[in-house]
Order: sequence, then structure tokens, then C-alpha cells
Amino acid sequence: MSYQVNEKGYYGNYGGAFIPEMLYPNVEELRQKYLTIMNEESFKEELNGLLKDYVGRPSPLYFAKRLSEHYKTKIYLKREDLNHTGAHKINNSLGQILLAKRLGKTRIIAETGAGQHGVATATVCALMGLECIVFMGEIDIERQAPNVARMKLLGAKVVPALSGSKTLKDATNEAIRDWINNPEDTYYIIGSAVGPHPYPDMVARFQSVISEEMKIQLLEKTGNENPDYIIACLGGGSNAAGSFYHYLDNENVKLIAVEAAGKGIHSGHSAATSVLGKIGVIHGSKTLLMQTEDGQIIEPYSLSAGLDYPGVGPMHSNLFETGRATFASVTDDEALKAVYMLCELEGIIPALESAHALAHLEYLKAKPNDIVVVNLSGRGDKDLATYMKFMK
Ligand SMILES: *Cc1c(COP(=O)(O)O)cnc(C)c1O
Repeated sequence: MSYQVNEKGYYGNYGGAFIPEMLYPNVEELRQKYLTIMNEESFKEELNGLLKDYVGRPSPLYFAKRLSEHYKTKIYLKREDLNHTGAHKINNSLGQILLAKRLGKTRIIAETGAGQHGVATATVCALMGLECIVFMGEIDIERQAPNVARMKLLGAKVVPALSGSKTLKDATNEAIRDWINNPEDTYYIIGSAVGPHPYPDMVARFQSVISEEMKIQLLEKTGNENPDYIIACLGGGSNAAGSFYHYLDNENVKLIAVEAAGKGIHSGHSAATSVLGKIGVIHGSKTLLMQTEDGQIIEPYSLSAGLDYPGVGPMHSNLFETGRATFASVTDDEALKAVYMLCELEGIIPALESAHALAHLEYLKAKPNDIVVVNLSGRGDKDLATYMKFMK
């Protein structure tokens, strides 16, 4: 069985492209061209050059000695936190903007929740000299002031989404509306492994550089390119897709996706989408999402702004259904504990999202000689206020 997308844009029962007719030409153009463009030598050369010199790749695979001693197993951290702009999101934004340029687009739109994807997209727009419009819920604009400032400094226009709950899903609706109104010159950079086909596959491919490097680095450091476990946090699913990608069809490597349980899975304040979700359509794809009996989206909750997304990308819905990956969840409190532990034991301040992956180490029953890779998706600078507030 393959866990990759099929030619119809589906991962098992999930995926597809459920879009308004007005968007069909844009999405269809992308579908027809993305693989051809991504496989062009000149495209690969430009992308790889920028990943190296601008983003700072390859990101190190760091053996966390003291953390390993604490958990009595061998733990490696894939350091996406060291990338330019502080997280894995730049890998995808950079890839998509190079693609947009080759499609002749001059105007870039994006949606953002916590602002991390907005910052990554504003960054690559400045790099390429393209106009950038970022839609963001009005409430998120208030909550995420430093990232709004970054986007503005980088020349992006931040447009508040005033409808609904004034958060990420409303910003996404605004972005889609804008795209419908500007189909000719505009390209929509989606920030996670979600959206209509081909976005989930395209984003997964741009993020797959993570597991591509992991293989080389593990071989060099341990003599074996296959770890026993890979652990990644799961919002929409892009950093998990990237760190699982080259291991999907190797069932000896156990894949673990960690969702945000917020205040507890059944507390009514959670973002544990796969466990709580039912099949439905969100942002143009059929996938697992949190919804009421009559199909209204339930507002997710997590202390970590990057994980409170009501759905999960279609690749992950399929990994969940088939059992290829294990889906776990940790609460806000457990994630915070993992933050303070990594600071204390390794001198690394992780993003609150990434700390969810780290917190799962408490539950992992690994043996002393097992190799465990945790994808450290981002750095914690953006979360300092939260960390100070909860520090004992
Ligand atoms: C956005 C973000 C996430 C969650 O998004 P995915 O698409 O699930 O990876 C995780 N970690 C960090 C640091 C982020 O910025």
C-alpha cells in the first residue's frame, strides 16, 4: 500500500478538490503544472541554492545527550528551529513562491493564524519583490502583535478578517474570496498540508527536505538511515508530513503525530482533530475535522496558536485511518513542562507547537538502544510571553 497521494488527488478516502467553480481554472492550472515545474533542473537549482544560503539548510540533526539520559533512549532533534524565520514554514513558502513566479503570477495572498506562515510568506515576497497580502483574523491580529509587526516591516499588507470567530478559518475564507476575485494575477500560498489537491501533496513535497536530510544525517551518525521512531507535532500537518515523507512506505519506522489536547481531549477545549473529528470538507478537501452534528465547524482550542486548527490534512487522515501512524495528544500543561525541560537540559527554547512532540517522550516506551527523532519544528521566541506567564 502506498501512503502517497494517488493520481486523483486522494489519500485513501481523503483529499480531492472541493472548490467553487470560479477557482477551478487556478487549481487546475496548478495541478497540471506543479510536478513538471518542481522537476525542472533550473527550479531545483534555484530552490536548493536558496534553501542552503538563505534558509540555512541542511538543518542540523542534533544528538540530545542529556535529554537522552533522562528518558533512557537515544534522542535526536531535527533542528527546524534554526531555519531563517524560526520554523519549518519557510521551506514551503519558498518553494511555492518560486512556483508562482514560473506561473507568471505577480500578487501573492496567504492566510495566517499565529502569524508564522504570514511571516514566512512576507519574507519570501520581499526576497522576490512581489506584492504580499496576508489575511488574518481580527482576534489573531490582537493576540499575535509581534508577528503582525514583522509582516508589516517586511512590506506585507495585513488584512483583518472580521467575520465569524475572527480567527484562522475566517482568514482562510477571506483568502479564498480574494482569489476568486483575482484569478489572473494572484497566487495563494497555503501554509500547511491542507487545501484542495494538489496543495497537500505540493506542501508535503516542499517539506520533505526534512526527512531527506534526516536519512543522510542518521546514516552518518548512527550507521543506519532508519530511526525506530519519528515524532512530530500536528496542526494542519506540514512538519509531520515533511518529517515522515521518505519513511512513509517503510513500516519499520514508527511514525507518531502529536496533536494538541488543549485543556484535555474531552474538555471541550481541544484541537485533537483526528480523535474528535469526523469526515467532512474543509478548505477544499475531504478530511477529518471537528464539527457539530449538523456539520458546523467547532472552534478548536490550544494554548499553542499554531496547532489550533479544526481539521488535519488528508494525508494524515489516511495515516490515522490505516494505522500507519500513531496519533497521540498532549495537553497545554504537558507541553509547557516539556518546554521548561528542554531549556534546562539542552539550552534550547522550543516553540510551544514543537513542545507537544517533545512532551510525548513521557509516554514513549522506547528501549535504551532505540533511535528516536523528534522534529523540532520551530523556536520559542514567539512564545516567550506565554512561557514567562506560566513559569513557576
Ligand atoms: C505552524 C506551525 C506548526 C503547525 O503546522 P503544521 O502544518 O502542522 O506543521 C508547528 N510548529 C510550528 C513551529 C509552527 O510554526
